[in-house]
Amino acid sequence: PFATPFAAVSVDSSTNASAESCTPVLPVLGRDVTVPLVTGGEVTYAALDHAASAPALQRVWDDVAAYAPYYGSVHRGAGYLSQLSTDLFEQSRRAVAEFLGCREDDEVVFTRATTDSLNLLASALPAGTRVFVFETEHHASLLPWRGHDVTYLDAPRSPEQAVATLEEALHAAPAGPKLVCVTGASNVTGEIWPVRELTAAAHRHGARLVLDAAQLAPHRPVDVSELDVDWVAFSGHKLYAPFGAGVLAGRADWLRAAEPYLAGGGASRTVARREDGGVDVEWHTNAARHEAGSPNVIGAYAIASACGALRAAGFERLVAREEELLARLRAGLAEVPEVTVLSLFGDDADRVGVLSFVVEGWNSSHFAAALSAEHGIGVRDGLFCAHPLLRTLLGAESGAAGECGAPDAAAGAVSLNAIRVSFGVGT
Ligand code: PLP
Repeated sequence: PFATPFAAVSVDSSTNASAESCTPVLPVLGRDVTVPLVTGGEVTYAALDHAASAPALQRVWDDVAAYAPYYGSVHRGAGYLSQLSTDLFEQSRRAVAEFLGCREDDEVVFTRATTDSLNLLASALPAGTRVFVFETEHHASLLPWRGHDVTYLDAPRSPEQAVATLEEALHAAPAGPKLVCVTGASNVTGEIWPVRELTAAAHRHGARLVLDAAQLAPHRPVDVSELDVDWVAFSGHKLYAPFGAGVLAGRADWLRAAEPYLAGGGASRTVARREDGGVDVEWHTNAARHEAGSPNVIGAYAIASACGALRAAGFERLVAREEELLARLRAGLAEVPEVTVLSLFGDDADRVGVLSFVVEGWNSSHFAAALSAEHGIGVRDGLFCAHPLLRTLLGAESGAAGECGAPDAAAGAVSLNAIRVSFGVGT
């Protein structure tokens, strides 16, 4: 044990970092990057696709750069660099646990991203687990459970209806282990789901709940203890850290009892040949059980750094600024009669800075391309890896599309898709 030269893993909320010290590399609106327009001239680029990936904060890049000369593989060597990296990796884990308000015996597993986290949990479900998931979920939350007994719940039209729908389905389910997977904020409508109430409903019926916080965590505090969720999953690259790392945090028991997600070094405590010629393996029982192979220390450290920056900036201030921007966006769109904003829960729903819409008479892909080429505004178009939700919101005629983005010409069936604008204040 020795003091590392890296301070950023501390997420002590008393840290009084100035807003400047946490400015994203490229600010949210009015970026200082200029792009050429097809119509001639240049404009300051507006990156409005944070829901896909948010630009990493300058502070995060700085922290990673400060660590770069020191890094070495973790849990392996006796040397200084290896010990330093191991220390940093485990400090990052504790920082994430603190950021998420984890319970004392919760496990924090570093993964590749939310998709990986949810697949890991799917691989750890006890035999016979029934899974309940709304059809409105991102494919990352919708699909990993295939192979289990899955109940797909119809799209609710209000937060109250979401709770009632879940309650009814759980009530009708036979005894046995149950898991509910629910998103915190929709990657399509930005609407915030009633996580606390859904969790309470799940627990009333003996079910556990995993929160897909990929879109919620960058915008709102996610406190595992306070929400009482059993697990939470999120991605670093949507939380102002670079690509390549994510988190699954929560109850240790199912994770400890499960076969390791990947088999290999790091997950195994001892491996020995048996007399019959086979191999006996004793697996770790902590997070390492599901982190086989050389872990992404830089990614974990970057997430811890981003968590620290968000905590230091203060969610209250970030939310207030984001709501201001969202109100401006909505007011602007309301002035265009051809625009219809997509929503499940209606105008009064609490939303993060994610909003999708269609423009009458326009193919959304063409519209998004024109925004980029003619105005320097980067948005996303398509069905946003949430095909069942988009079909519900847009009507049955919206058809096959490229998995997460532009229409798939070969499939040829797209008559409608949507445009998504998303942003975050970051710090
Ligand atoms: N869940 C939601 C709500 C998302 O918006 C996304 C990505 O857009 C994911 C999960 C998957 O995240 P990742 O691609 O980082 O695994």
